[in-house]
Amino acid sequence: MNFYDSEKMSDLLMNHGYVATDIQEDADLIIVNTCHIREKASEKLFSDLGRIKKIKDKKRLTVAVTGCVAQAEGEQISVRAPFVDLISGPQSYHRLPEMLRKISNGKNISPLLEFMPNEKFDNLEFGKNKKGPTSFVSIQEGCDKFCTFCVVPYTRGAEFSRSISEIIDEVSNLTDHGVCEVTLLGQNVNSWHGVDKKGKERGLAYLINEISYIKKIKRIRYTTSHPLDMDEELILAHKNINKLMPYLHLPVQSGSDSILKAMNRKHTAKDYIKIIDKIRKINPEIALSGDFIVGFPGETDKDFNDTIRLVKEVQYAQSYSFKYSERPGTPASVLDFQVPESKKRVRLKKLQEILFEQQEKYNFSFLGKELEVLIEKTGGRDDQIMGRSQYMQSVYMDKNLGKIGEIKTVKISHAGKNSLKV
Ligand code: SAH
Ligand code: SF4
Repeated sequence: MNFYDSEKMSDLLMNHGYVATDIQEDADLIIVNTCHIREKASEKLFSDLGRIKKIKDKKRLTVAVTGCVAQAEGEQISVRAPFVDLISGPQSYHRLPEMLRKISNGKNISPLLEFMPNEKFDNLEFGKNKKGPTSFVSIQEGCDKFCTFCVVPYTRGAEFSRSISEIIDEVSNLTDHGVCEVTLLGQNVNSWHGVDKKGKERGLAYLINEISYIKKIKRIRYTTSHPLDMDEELILAHKNINKLMPYLHLPVQSGSDSILKAMNRKHTAKDYIKIIDKIRKINPEIALSGDFIVGFPGETDKDFNDTIRLVKEVQYAQSYSFKYSERPGTPASVLDFQVPESKKRVRLKKLQEILFEQQEKYNFSFLGKELEVLIEKTGGRDDQIMGRSQYMQSVYMDKNLGKIGEIKTVKISHAGKNSLKV
């Protein structure tokens, strides 16, 4: 989501005469776009700002801090780093050009912290600077679920869904700039809902189907989903919509029912497994990915072992796992029985050993087999190109085997935990 926001900010500014540079010392404007989901985000911000201040001491430079740390700690940033000219939360950055004009006229700007996703999306300019065949498209923002560990409902605000026509316009616009794969984004992407032309309330499966009619779109993905919003129609879409890729990122966080309850996830481990079974029945080849948190307050060895058991049962192709991180202002941060850091570290290591082994095993199962790869960019080496399989794996190959933007059928000859080679 932050990647998408950064791209949108740069689109906006480029349309107002700015040009991007990779060299910080050359910049007239530096925007630090921040994430607040886990610890150390604000510490990292202040150390980045320390470096940026040294540049600002030497030349005329405008500094902006945007994103969720700005939203959560805007006032503190103004106090601790008074040289920052502009602070904006993730729902007001469409006002950047206007505010930058004011700053250049010598005005002081107070932090932009309003939640106005509607106004934001109406004011973003799309696609003009798009490079490459893949793109994110934000379709939903914010969250009403209030998991007890999570800052998103506070920093991104209430759930908001963009309209079908606005999304279709953005996707069509992107195809005019060479995009053939879109990843629909939302903090709870599958809670997206909209109204069709006949006034009927629709869910994500309908939207994906509508997007699949856009001829130049070859691949559709979506992330991140919540188990509670995984409805039958969306599960069926994984069989009925060919352009929907066989990959599902469905976080579970924990395999222990008492921890899931304390997290306010509103589902049990069994509910989650049931969804996985259903989706595998509909589409046996689907690659599954998940998010896990270890060391949530009160997590016992038994709770942790329940997570291990769930992981062994599901068999993931990919995963993201984290140590629980205390977020200021969230209900879990004031719970008793916080798990010591050393225990979290041991549990994360054990969990990741199993998850990474599953990922490696999954990738090895493609040795000697054919995959369809959308070539995205040049690889790590000059003579290489890199793309993604339908199952989201990174695949590297010789640059003579295809061009950026093409979908090629290739035979896999090497496999590792993180990537495949032709
Ligand atoms: N809406 C998605 C997740 C969005 S946040 C869902 O409900 O699954 C992305 C991931 O960050 C989460 O899935 C969770 O695993 C992790 N995360 C969020 N808050 C965290 C915290 N306080 N500590 C550790 N991990 C956290
Ligand atoms: Fe955070 Fe996801 Fe829970 Fe919403 S559903 S509070 S985004 S973890």
